[in-house]
Amino acid sequence: MSNAPRISSFQPPKRILLGPGPSDVHQRVLEAMARPTVGHLDPRFSEMMDEMKTLLRYAFQTENALTFPVSAPGSVGMESCFVNLVEPGDKVIVCANGVFGRRMAENVKRTRGELVLVEDAWGKPVDPHKVEDALKAHPDAKILAFVHAETSTGAQSDVKLLTEIAHRHGALVIVDAVTSLGCVPLLVDEWGVDAIYSGSQKGLSCTPGLSPVSFGERAVAKIKARQTPVQSWFMDLNLVLGYWDDAKRTYHHTSPINALYGLHEALVMLAEEGLEAAWARYRRNHLALLAGLQALGLELLVEESARLPQLNAVVVPEGLSEPQVRADMLNLHGIEIGAGLGDLAGKIFRIGLMGNSSTPANVKACLTALESVLATQGWKVEPGKAVAAAERAWA
Ligand SMILES: *Cc1c(COP(=O)(O)O)cnc(C)c1O
Repeated sequence: MSNAPRISSFQPPKRILLGPGPSDVHQRVLEAMARPTVGHLDPRFSEMMDEMKTLLRYAFQTENALTFPVSAPGSVGMESCFVNLVEPGDKVIVCANGVFGRRMAENVKRTRGELVLVEDAWGKPVDPHKVEDALKAHPDAKILAFVHAETSTGAQSDVKLLTEIAHRHGALVIVDAVTSLGCVPLLVDEWGVDAIYSGSQKGLSCTPGLSPVSFGERAVAKIKARQTPVQSWFMDLNLVLGYWDDAKRTYHHTSPINALYGLHEALVMLAEEGLEAAWARYRRNHLALLAGLQALGLELLVEESARLPQLNAVVVPEGLSEPQVRADMLNLHGIEIGAGLGDLAGKIFRIGLMGNSSTPANVKACLTALESVLATQGWKVEPGKAVAAAERAWA
């Protein structure tokens, strides 16, 4: 028998999370998660789940009955949409303008759908003209899939317009709202979105590991009309529903009970603040950050009309070492920011102001730290200028 390893409790360092997710988790959410675990079929737990659905419907702005958190990260919310809605041979148009659009395309291939890819440059929103052309060229397309807030680039696409185009051509839409839910206007019912998935750790500022999803009537009808069973047992909505349906709650899998307490609390906090107030807060803090970045001589990748307030992709100027900037931000200032991915690796760094991380204090801390980090790399900066510019933007 080997000896027990001598390892003590893990004490995470204190960080300010200003990357592409996770965002800072509020003490209220952490405290909710520390409450006693009850059984997942306990009637009191069922009451909490019902409230959760109500809170999620508010966040998504929908009346969809089929609205609940999948017990897994955003990627599984994505996969749940594709495995349930795509049958082998279904033609699916996927818009890819970054990492997450490409992942949607990969999902179509793996569900043995017929993929039609519409690509846009990284940093640009999805081009509605290209989508319209693709739907005209493929009148048999059953689904259009796209990302609302492309976290890898900071670009926002027009959900309302793209959904309207898809419906005009008889296609349903699947929307990735992992980084948009709670941060920018998203009106699922008004815009007629058919299927949508999000994540707990970005705009909602909960811990990672849960994926709120919502399916409209047309999507449910397509799932019910399937000729073939859903290839995944765990994600088959027909089975999951037995658990999330209040009338006939039965065992499907043991839900992550304490994580759900956390999401419930995060959604209560969103409802307390109000969606519109939250959207306005994101915008204010984004504009202040932008003013500060410009005072430092930095620019954003995305054109103004498509910028996400919650994810700022900053172009790395000639002469700066991007990995060094991120390492110094983390090691010297305790601030996490994100790297560029794929085509944008080394060319941008990403500053997230998501959920609870979007505060004036964090914007100021980030600008002060950046100023100092850039100065050590020989970048000419005037001390205090960035924060002063941010202050003016708030005023
Ligand atoms: C983070 C993210 C995902 C994946 O979510 P995970 O919780 O990391 O699995 C999917 N799409 C977008 C746009 C994201 O930002």
